[in-house]
Amino acid sequence: MEDDFEPAPPTPRGTRRLCPVCGGDDLHYFLGGYEGTTRYQCKGCDYVGPYVIEGDEETARVLREQYAQRRG
Ligand SMILES: [Zn+2]
Repeated sequence: MEDDFEPAPPTPRGTRRLCPVCGGDDLHYFLGGYEGTTRYQCKGCDYVGPYVIEGDEETARVLREQYAQRRG
């Protein structure tokens, strides 16, 4: 049901939601479901899960560098 995902709202304090896998910030989210859980979907690497990182630009850069290194 990919169509149920929608753009995640902005975070307070100027932070951003970041994908824990690739550090991308193109995240969509799905609120609800039969378990009432929120799931995030990363448009950059197909990550789907309940966990995202809140961070600033520096955090995003570190995550992206680590992801690039893992990919070789
Ligand atoms: Zn990602």
